[in-house]
Amino acid sequence: MANVVVVGAQWGDEGKGKIVDWLSERADVIARFQGGHSAGHTLVIGDKVFKLSLLPSGIVRENKLAVIGNGVVLDPWALFAEIDKLAGQGVRISTENLMIAENTPLILPLHQDLDKLREEAAGKAKIGTTGRGIGPAYEDKVGRRTIRVADLGDEETLDARLDRLLAHHDALRQGLGATPIDRAELKAKLMEVAPKLLPYAQPVWKIMADARKSGKRILFEGAQGSLLDIDFGTYPYVTSSTTMSGAAASGTGMGPGAIGFVLGIVKAYTTRVGEGPFPTELDDADGQRLGERGHEFGTVTGRKRRCGWFDAVLVRQTCAISGVNGIALTKLDVLDGFETLKICTGYQIDGVTYDYLPTAAALQAKVTPVYEEMEGWQESTAGARSWADLPAAAIKYVRRVEELIQCPVALLSTSPERDDTILVTDPFAD
Ligand code: IMP
Repeated sequence: MANVVVVGAQWGDEGKGKIVDWLSERADVIARFQGGHSAGHTLVIGDKVFKLSLLPSGIVRENKLAVIGNGVVLDPWALFAEIDKLAGQGVRISTENLMIAENTPLILPLHQDLDKLREEAAGKAKIGTTGRGIGPAYEDKVGRRTIRVADLGDEETLDARLDRLLAHHDALRQGLGATPIDRAELKAKLMEVAPKLLPYAQPVWKIMADARKSGKRILFEGAQGSLLDIDFGTYPYVTSSTTMSGAAASGTGMGPGAIGFVLGIVKAYTTRVGEGPFPTELDDADGQRLGERGHEFGTVTGRKRRCGWFDAVLVRQTCAISGVNGIALTKLDVLDGFETLKICTGYQIDGVTYDYLPTAAALQAKVTPVYEEMEGWQESTAGARSWADLPAAAIKYVRRVEELIQCPVALLSTSPERDDTILVTDPFAD
């Protein structure tokens, strides 16, 4: 029996929320392993719409254990705001169904300040971050000066951590023209949230090991997308965590053998929020149409997403890096009604053909996509629940995508509704 890791194979917003929710019915434990509360997962269940940022998507289901692993950066105030909002929608969250790794680093208000100060100072060179403090929080983690969940349990430890952290941040803030941190205020805030947060704190690595031993099915829920990966994404226009599948193990405290099936979530076209290279971006009526039909606005920030044709080069690359066993293809219905569709099959850079995106920024800036044209379809694919419901041209498109990315379709999602899903291969059955 396989444990399943779900990762976005593009720039995020591939529709992971629905797929994770769908798979979580069959899982016992659903774990987040990287990222923070910048992710926006929309779940449509019957007439209810749930918007999650930090909590694992499985939290909306009964009798599942939701886990936040050490690879995540956690804003405690955002966490409790999300818990309260979900409680208002009838979702019961307690220490029975939510556990947080005690070695999870915290996102503090000073991280959000720094995120915004840096973006403002960068002007045109800004990353286009979500402003949630994700990057600065990860910097402090690897800089060995962060405050972790367990540190909240002892005032002396907290004091020592604050000293080290503020020495760094006050110097930085001075350079950016900001006032020093009000230490007493920050400490009071942390002391206030500590008794609420600490009951959820657990040695998650141990809980995961026990779950694995007792044959529980684990679903690892990735956030953002592979092209935002700190190492393999379009650096520096990336997030600050490892968004590839390998992080599922280190971000929860398991060996790599715990990862069974890697499911890459792939949108039938391409979108991106924030700045950075985007070879197949469309500035024309087709791009406009993809955005409107696909409702391409950020769940968390409300920002308009940039849209473009499907880029098979990039998805082949991310599937290789994450070892994707099968993809879930989403939002095919957004392509309904186009006369002609284009798929990017390679790049031209200075007269040379590439079958991958080179790392050098100077080369990335000169990419011209090579397109293959495909006939569109006029029928609606929305809500299709079997291959027989799909027009021949749509099936041809899906088959061509599989061929070009060298990875089979395991699931096809045809609307935001839970049940509008065509199952080809059950990722858990491997
Ligand atoms: P950060 O993670 O807030 O530092 O943002 C870094 C980059 O990742 C920016 O381009 C953001 O727009 C992008 N990003 C962060 N979270 C998400 C997400 O959940 N979906 C899509 N893009 C994201």
